[in-house]
Amino acid sequence: MPIASGHDLAGPRPRRTRPAKSAATAVDPALSDKALAIHARLCPVYGCPIPYFHSLDPLSELVSSLLSHRTRNAESGRAFKALRARYPDWEGMLAAPVAEIEAAIAGVTWPELKAPRLQAILSAVKARQGALSLDFLEDMAVEEARAWLEAIPGVGPKTSAAVLSFSLLRMPALPVDSHHHRVAQRTGLIGPRVDVGPSHPILRAQLPADWSAQALYDNHEVLMLHGQHVCHHRNPACGRCVLLDLCPEGQARTGGGGAIREP
Ligand code: SF4
Repeated sequence: MPIASGHDLAGPRPRRTRPAKSAATAVDPALSDKALAIHARLCPVYGCPIPYFHSLDPLSELVSSLLSHRTRNAESGRAFKALRARYPDWEGMLAAPVAEIEAAIAGVTWPELKAPRLQAILSAVKARQGALSLDFLEDMAVEEARAWLEAIPGVGPKTSAAVLSFSLLRMPALPVDSHHHRVAQRTGLIGPRVDVGPSHPILRAQLPADWSAQALYDNHEVLMLHGQHVCHHRNPACGRCVLLDLCPEGQARTGGGGAIREP
């Protein structure tokens, strides 16, 4: 039974309303109900609608997202600011010596890999589009825009969804990070062997096809925040988790009664 999300569920612009490929994926109705129940349970805890944390154009969001892989937000934020200060437009970074970019982003994980990758990705955008801009994605359907981005080597489902959702495009795409993925796996929304990449279409298909960008953003954010604050990688706090009655992993860990079992 559908559960009201508490969001503005106004549909996206007409160009983006055709059913996404992922939304056409066969979905177990019980899992869809559970996904909605989890969303409804977590939204009051984390305060939906959640404000967007970025107001970047989509190309800048792509740069930011690439910097953030396996890197703390504070470090990737510093690196992004360093790049913006050095290269007021991305053409400047494209033409810069790679060692200069690597030095500017030294605080992120694997700067020696990310610096040439950033240049390669900018170069690919320019070669395919004729300009250093991703603003044209606004005119595509979500799945079409994701496919365009993921055709660039080094851009996967998480990055493509982040660009569409977090940037000023504000398109209805569902990113899945490691925290979101962990909560989805433990609650049984996805199987134990489903990796982060393949989890994207599965988790998106469990949510209503007409959910707004804000609703999908909230869904990602609340599962991510829950993974960060309660469902920790080690020692999840099942005894104080609002999802315990929905979560097989939590019930196994607590003996089904809500109290943490002694090791
Ligand atoms: S009950 Fe435990 S394992 Fe399940 S979502 Fe909550 S914290 Fe995570």
